[in-house]
Amino acid sequence: MLVIQEFIDATAHRGNMTPSRLFGMWYHPLYTDGIHPEARFPRDRYQLLLDRFQASGMNQAMHITRPQPIAKALLLLAHDRDYVDRFLAGDLTDKEEKRIGLTPWTPAMIERTLVLMGGAVEATEHAVHTGGFSGNMAGGTHHAHRDFGSGYCVFNDLAVCALHAVENLGVKRVAILDLDVHQGDGTATILAHEPRVCTVSVHCQTNFPFRKARSDHDLPLPPDADDATFLETVNKALNICLDFNPDLLLFQAGVDGLAADALGKLSVSREGMKTRNQMVFDAARHHQIPTVIFMGGGYAKPIERSLDAFYDLFTDAAQWNQSGARSNSI
Ligand SMILES: [Zn+2]
Repeated sequence: MLVIQEFIDATAHRGNMTPSRLFGMWYHPLYTDGIHPEARFPRDRYQLLLDRFQASGMNQAMHITRPQPIAKALLLLAHDRDYVDRFLAGDLTDKEEKRIGLTPWTPAMIERTLVLMGGAVEATEHAVHTGGFSGNMAGGTHHAHRDFGSGYCVFNDLAVCALHAVENLGVKRVAILDLDVHQGDGTATILAHEPRVCTVSVHCQTNFPFRKARSDHDLPLPPDADDATFLETVNKALNICLDFNPDLLLFQAGVDGLAADALGKLSVSREGMKTRNQMVFDAARHHQIPTVIFMGGGYAKPIERSLDAFYDLFTDAAQWNQSGARSNSI
């Protein structure tokens, strides 16, 4: 913890630091407030995580931006027009809304979804322009398919950002590394025939979605996999990404592989999750690959165990972005 405190102190005194050298993080109050208070989804996790950053001073190591709503044209890179139009008009059927979850549905879900997607796009543009790391404090909506949503996901931020990068940002090759405990099925189907994007998913083989899609590379784990098994598989997945020689990495960093997670089925420790993230950050720094962090799942009961892991994720990302150096003492 001493190292973190020293880092905070050092950062706080760099008054002339340009925002681009800070870790760019996107956040909007609607990430929490756009979900109905009675929804089963732990909507408070976004606000609670921001509170932690502010209480610890870690927000000083970040440049936190409130995103604009995404342009509809960008949604259409990955989604059918009819689905997009009906969502924007509030005309999804009850069945479609139930498949997404986040019910009871509220009209604020529309604006929430647009700013969440906007945050992912702005974080991606920032990473490409600065060459460093950035993050969106929500999203990783990998269960959204081209013409329907599911599993808490309306639109697929990973697919939209990957296609935006290759179509509009001069990026040639994108690797999507999905380390959430659930398979990135929507990402896989949307990008199945896109050779400029490589999709890699590490997930629990017996978890949702029960009908798996085919990613470019799937690395399923047995239930109850521990740190050693998990990290060995993460290492393989990371090497697959590096072999693709990407000039942008999109990291779905869900922490629902934690043993404490209510939906996870794996047995990964907080330290194991930290090591996972640091492996990704080390590789990205070493190979100088701009990297965007998508928050992903985390459903521990109590939610504090998920927040611990998300706190580690973004504070380590901020440190790696700043210094490029690894400290083993935190
Ligand atoms: Zn998940």
